[in-house]
Parts: sequence; C-alpha cells; structure tokens
Amino acid sequence: MRFLLFFSFVACLLAQSPNTKITSGHRYPRLVIRNALIIEGNGTPASGPKDIVIQNGRIADIVALDPVAISRGAARRPAGDVEIEAAGKYVMPGLINAHAHLQDERGGIPQPFDYELKMWMACGITTIRDVGSETPKALQLRKQSAEGEVVAPRIFVYPMFNRSSPGNDPEEARARVREFKAMGADGIKILGVYRDVMEALEDEAHKAGLRIAHHAGVEETNAWDDIKFGTTSIEHWYGIPDAAIPEGRQHFPSSYNYNNETDRFRYAGHLWREADGELLGKVFDGMVQAHVAWDPTLDIYEASRDLQRAQNQPWFREYLHPTLAKYFEPNPANHGSYFIGWTSTDEAFWKENYRIEMAALREFEKRGGLIGCGDDAGFIYQMYGFGLIRELELHQEAGFQPLTVIQHATANNAKILGQEGRMGRVRTGYLADLLVVNGNPLENLKVLYPTGTDEIRDGKTVHTGGVEWTIKDGIPYYAPGLLADVKDIVAKARSATR
Ligand SMILES: [Zn+2]
Repeated sequence: MRFLLFFSFVACLLAQSPNTKITSGHRYPRLVIRNALIIEGNGTPASGPKDIVIQNGRIADIVALDPVAISRGAARRPAGDVEIEAAGKYVMPGLINAHAHLQDERGGIPQPFDYELKMWMACGITTIRDVGSETPKALQLRKQSAEGEVVAPRIFVYPMFNRSSPGNDPEEARARVREFKAMGADGIKILGVYRDVMEALEDEAHKAGLRIAHHAGVEETNAWDDIKFGTTSIEHWYGIPDAAIPEGRQHFPSSYNYNNETDRFRYAGHLWREADGELLGKVFDGMVQAHVAWDPTLDIYEASRDLQRAQNQPWFREYLHPTLAKYFEPNPANHGSYFIGWTSTDEAFWKENYRIEMAALREFEKRGGLIGCGDDAGFIYQMYGFGLIRELELHQEAGFQPLTVIQHATANNAKILGQEGRMGRVRTGYLADLLVVNGNPLENLKVLYPTGTDEIRDGKTVHTGGVEWTIKDGIPYYAPGLLADVKDIVAKARSATR
C-alpha cells in the first residue's frame, strides 16, 4: 500500500498530460509508458516505477524513477509524442503462444481469421508459433502482420510433416525439408513419423537452420530419439513417459485401437503411472544436455480430467464462435471430440495423470530443463488466447511461482523460437511487444483474462483486470476494443446461422 501511495505521488508530481490522445492501432514516432511496474520476463522480481520509451518498434530506453533523484528534482523524465499512464498497473512482455494453430475453418465450416487474431491480441498474445502451418496462407499472414497491415501477433511458420506427407522415406523427407526452407518456413512440426524418417528430417533441418516441434504420439519414436536427433521442443508430453517405461511400451488392453480417439485419449490417461521415476530422471538429463525443450499444453487435456468445467467456460457465452461451438460438440468425425461415454473413471485416471505430469515438469525444470507454454486452442473446448491464460494457471497449479510461469510464456518461449536475443523480455533494445495490465498477475494470473476479474474495494465489488494495452512492434492496441470486435464477430455469425 505504501508503495502504491509512492506511486501516485510520483504520478501526480511528474506526469505531464500527453499532447496527443492515443489511438489504438496507430504507430507513433515516440511512445512513452509512464510509471510502470515492470515484470521483465526473465524470472527476476517486478520493479518500478519506470518510464519505458518506445521508438521504431523497439524499447529504446527504460528509465528508473528512483525516489532519491525525484526528491532532488533531478529525475530524468523522457518525453513522448503520446503517453500511456501505467501508474498502479503492471507492464510485462507480450505473451508468446508456442503451440498455436491459425484456423480459418473448423470441420470444413469457415471461421474468419480476424476472430482468432483479435482474440489472441486481446488476451495479450503478441507472438505465435503456428505449428502445422498451412502454406501459403500462413506465410501471407506472417507478412501482413510484420508490416502492420492486420491486427495480429507475430507469426512463426512451422509447416507439418506427418506420416501422410509426401515423401515418407528418408531421402524424400530431406527433399521436403529443403522445400520448406525455400518457401521461407521458420521451422517444421513433425507428427508421428518413423524413426529413419525422423533422423533424416532432423539432420536436414539442422543443416537448413530450421527448428523442430515434435508431437510424438504413441509411435516408434520417443524422447530418446528427440535427444539423439536434436528436436527443439517436445509438444504435449507423448514420448516422455513412454521413454521411461521399463518395457518400452505402455500396457494397452487387447481391444485397444490407436485410430479410435476414445481409446487413444482414455488410455493416454494411464500413461504417466507406467513411467519409472528413476528412468524418467535419466530422460530429463538427456533432454537437458541435448537442449530439448518441453511445451506441455496442459490446458488441452483438461476436458479429460473435468469434462463439465471444460464445457461450461464463462467466456463461451459471448465469445464462442458458432463454427467453433459446433466443432467442440462430441462427434467422432472431429479431432479431439471424443467425449461420448466419458466416465468418472476416465476422469479419475486423468487427474492422477496430471498429478504425476505436474511433478515431472517441476523435476525437469529443477534439472535444468527448458519449459515453454502453448495452448493448442481450436480443439477440445479451448478458445484462442483464453486457453493460453488457462495454461498459465495450470503451470501455477503444477507448483511454479507466477514469476516463473510468466517466464515460461515469454523468455523461455523466445528461446524455443531462437529469438531470445530480441523478444520475450522488457529490456532495452528488445522488440516493443509489451502488455499494460490492469492488476497484478503475480498475485492473480486471472487478471490476464480479457473478461477481467472482480475485486472487493472499500466493501464494494469492482470489476477490473484484463490487459489494457497490447503493444506489438511498438504499436499500441486497446485490448478491450479488440475484445468488443470479437464479440461483434460472434454476434453477427450467430444471427447469420440462426
Ligand atoms: Zn496442436
């Protein structure tokens, strides 16, 4: 409280009223964020108040408003063309979603890109890694985003290579990697490939300077192959417990059919209990040595442990697009909609699965492992952006403190993208991808939900929270305005389908 008083004192004493009123989506030569309490993103504690100067899309300067200098009247206050007053607010790096999917349809029904792009930005996501990119659409959007032509996060394009991709033998896989490189991809998402193909593909990708995101599934390969061949990040978690099962293969019932999604998700809930703790430690040490990161996407399995929670999220009321709503309905034809006949027994197994996985995540980080953060939204009741904030909450539930959780989604994700020298931190010289947050995410990660939170102040309920400004590439976007656009898109789509 004393700190807040000091805050307001500084604000009153020194804040000049900005010359120009700030407009959302406009680039200014020099933008200053005043009196910010900063969470850098590298795990260090919050500190402030500070003024942040943004020029040419970068953080040009961060000026600490040290109380001694202020009392002598010697504090240096940078001026800006426009200013954002951030007294009492927190400024942190824009969130990076390491497991995102650009989607302009669900189940063959169109859904406008704008819907997810604006929702991501309203949730404070300034960068996505699009894993399984549809090219050339994703490449086109990446360009438009970079040039500020669309309201969208930065996009990293990772086209898909899976078993049904053309070239499912080692030599053809190499040729396909060279094609990805030539089209300008940033990396490759691989899903369920044979070991010899994976080896060739990763070898060629290393030569081409392409990063690899691996969704292993239950296949021939597991985390030992990721360690050996140099995968950048393991997506979800498949392949990790598998590598620590003494017999090398999970015990499935004789009737198990991997192509049946209900079987697949049901028995995935039995997987972590079969992993041996000591072997798991060896897998983690191997991953640490080979710099294989882990992007667990805990949020996307939440329906498996608590179906009713997943199906009744409050933001569905106004922000769930009818196309996505239809896709979420249990239907064997849609990926991830496997919930017909889901039982309390299934949920109990999945709750145990989460407990073991969460402890494993802590152990991995303790041994030096790099944990990222992604939401895989657009599937299984997870909405774009909201899913990533839920993911942050689940990292906290796993036992990480909020400073570390935020680091997972900022500096760590930047490292996974190979961008740690230029994004994911509030640091001079870094890209000006920043959030001005109404509230303290270190106290309550829920303040990041764009729908906000309620607080009691002086005995009264006050609605607060949410990201106020999402600044991407130095351009400030008024996040509540973006959310209002999303609401509008949904309302119009609903009345059109009625
Ligand atoms: Zn995915």
